[in-house]
Amino acid sequence: MDSLRSKENLNQFERIFGKTNTNPRLFEAPARINIIGEHVDYLGGIVLPAAINFSVHVFLRPNQTNLYRFHSITFNETISIKKPFLSNQNAPWTDYITGVIVELEAEGHSIPGFDLLVDGNIPQGSGLSSSAALEVVTGFAISECFGLGIKREKIAVIGQKAENNFVGTKCGIMDQFIIAVGKQNDCISLNTDTLNYSYHHFELGDHEFYLINSNVKHNLKDSAYNQRRLECESALQKIHSKFPNFKQLYDVTLTESEIKNCDLTPDEFKRTKHVISERERTKQVIEGLESNQFSKVGAALYEAHDSLSKNFEVSCEETDFIVSQLKDLGVMGARMIGGGFGGCVLVLDKKEGFAKINEEMKKSYQQKFNLALDFYKFQISDGVKEISI
Ligand code: ADP
Ligand code: MG
Repeated sequence: MDSLRSKENLNQFERIFGKTNTNPRLFEAPARINIIGEHVDYLGGIVLPAAINFSVHVFLRPNQTNLYRFHSITFNETISIKKPFLSNQNAPWTDYITGVIVELEAEGHSIPGFDLLVDGNIPQGSGLSSSAALEVVTGFAISECFGLGIKREKIAVIGQKAENNFVGTKCGIMDQFIIAVGKQNDCISLNTDTLNYSYHHFELGDHEFYLINSNVKHNLKDSAYNQRRLECESALQKIHSKFPNFKQLYDVTLTESEIKNCDLTPDEFKRTKHVISERERTKQVIEGLESNQFSKVGAALYEAHDSLSKNFEVSCEETDFIVSQLKDLGVMGARMIGGGFGGCVLVLDKKEGFAKINEEMKKSYQQKFNLALDFYKFQISDGVKEISI
């Protein structure tokens, strides 16, 4: 976010929480894209995310009381809480912050009272993970301001636990992880089973990734997310009882008929099919990026979308329409990203194609759904960090 907005927010912080001898410190966490490996990060799969230059930022200052006071610029709301920590239905945004305090304390840290102001420009609920950015920036800011020295990887896990346990969304580890460890110009490949990861730099030459926001959010998202997790768990249990070697659904290397023999329901079968095929596409994408074979990458993105739509059933009419239109227009590759049921589509194409695609897509989407489309170009950026003010 730009420095003018940061200065205004600092003034706002001091108007709300008062001016003292101690200045609040400013921290910023990015949004993320994921190139491939969708809905496998809670199943031990490999994912290929990168941090991008949208952000959530917080100002934080200890207040030497037992009160935790939060102000959101977006929601124009100040909330004051103290222990015991309870979920706040009236201000759900505070749960992402409170959840992080709860998880830090569960780890044995004692977190004294503080004042926090949050602002951000990550479109919320659009699949770019504004929630994980809020958790990670909160965890990092607390760790730095109270001298806890918690490692970035650990802050990611604490953020995920906050979302799983306090907010109640059974998300995987990918979003928090890349937001914690991201580096400018690099994506990571992360094994979500072992949390081993490595940085990768790809030269896209005259190609680019960009995002298209469908500007729809179907509220099925959170319940379906938890439902998919349950379906994947029960599928694994059934497979595991016949083939005890497989500890994760992602690792299953059986034929379709062997899987069918495990008495899976039709839904469990389809979910399994997505997860296993995503593993193959991930290999294809990494190979394609490393050898500059971008058409191979693009083809895998289209296949991934098809699988997310038909097998994992987390897409919707609007994002299906966007992806099929892009294909008809000759774009190299595209797929929905994030939890699904709306939100953003990730596109890979030749740079020269952008202007025409932008124009044609906006027209046809408006005609079909009477809705605007937003196009976002982005840069691959650093993970969470402190900003000097
Ligand atoms: P996503 O993570 O895909 O953006 P979620 O529904 O998981 O969508 O998280 C969005 C929620 O995160 C918002 O409804 C809000 O509660 C919280 N949030 C995200 N960004 C901010 C922000 N800048 N200020 C306050 N709350 C935020
Ligand atoms: Mg989220």
